[in-house]
Amino acid sequence: MEDQGQSGILVVTDEESNREELAKILQNEHHLEFGVGSKDIIETILERKPDLILLDLWLGGIDSFELLSRLKEIDETRDIPVILLTSNASVEDEERGLRLGAVDYLTRPFHSAIVTARVRIQLDLIKHIRTIERLGMIDALTDIPNRRFFDMRIKEEWRRACRHKSHISILMLDVDKFKNYNDTYGHPQGDRLLKFIGKILMDNLHRPSDMAARLGGEEFAVLLGDTDTAGAVKVAEAIRRGIEHGIVFTPEGEPTSITISTGISSIIPSTDGDYMELIQQADKYLYTAKENGRNRIVFKE
Ligand code: GH3
Ligand code: MG
Ligand code: MG
Repeated sequence: MEDQGQSGILVVTDEESNREELAKILQNEHHLEFGVGSKDIIETILERKPDLILLDLWLGGIDSFELLSRLKEIDETRDIPVILLTSNASVEDEERGLRLGAVDYLTRPFHSAIVTARVRIQLDLIKHIRTIERLGMIDALTDIPNRRFFDMRIKEEWRRACRHKSHISILMLDVDKFKNYNDTYGHPQGDRLLKFIGKILMDNLHRPSDMAARLGGEEFAVLLGDTDTAGAVKVAEAIRRGIEHGIVFTPEGEPTSITISTGISSIIPSTDGDYMELIQQADKYLYTAKENGRNRIVFKE
């Protein structure tokens, strides 16, 4: 749904008043289309490819939760953000909607400023994600940034830390005995495990300037801006523990687990320094962690 650079929003509702109100709020800035809750709504969505869907929770003809689940199962529609429209969602409905993959809620009566802001946030996010994908900076297997993205960000963070005379920390992580794991459970299960590790990394990063990346194979890195060694050790320990205690099931239901080794380096960079040295140092400590028995974190005391 591309229309002179305007974003395409598909509103799925049976209520005329919803259509009128949302049109009033959104139609100046966005390209709006409407659909009703009928059986062929999926076809409509596939055909129109909206950037964003506003989905009424209460549809006459179909179950909107079911529609939401279906949209998240289909490759072509999975990444379209869905905001649910509701008058008085119970907490359970709200939770269910979010769990099924909705990104947000808009509650009636619609307030123009709120609708505009929430729609804007989702459209901006989508735009950013598309830019990143276009530049090829996301690892296809784990869905986290790849080495290229990491290299770009570390250069930025390095410059920023130079200006602010603040710490920058790097974690280099490598899955322990991953060859054994692949040999035991097979490569597809190995891939599942890598996805799990990507998720644990993301779950343990909390600041906007933190980033995790898959550098290749079973090697990952974490970049922590404005964080000294002590802070980096805390993050690394949370990740180490999360992975050690995590259980990844095979499709047959067999539980598997793994550990990870980590090297940490921290510095307050100077302009004549080189970020490659920071990476090399973390790599060196990672190697020591392997030598010392794996499932551990090594850093300069
Ligand atoms: P160490 O504890 O010393 O790191 O042992 P290791 O077995 O993890 O290290 P090694 O470098 O010998 O083996 C890495 C293995 O990682 C080899 C390969 O089977 C596996 N691997 C690398 N990339 C992928 C991938 O994308 N998917 C899967 N499933 N396995 C991968
Ligand atoms: Mg390795
Ligand atoms: Mg390894």
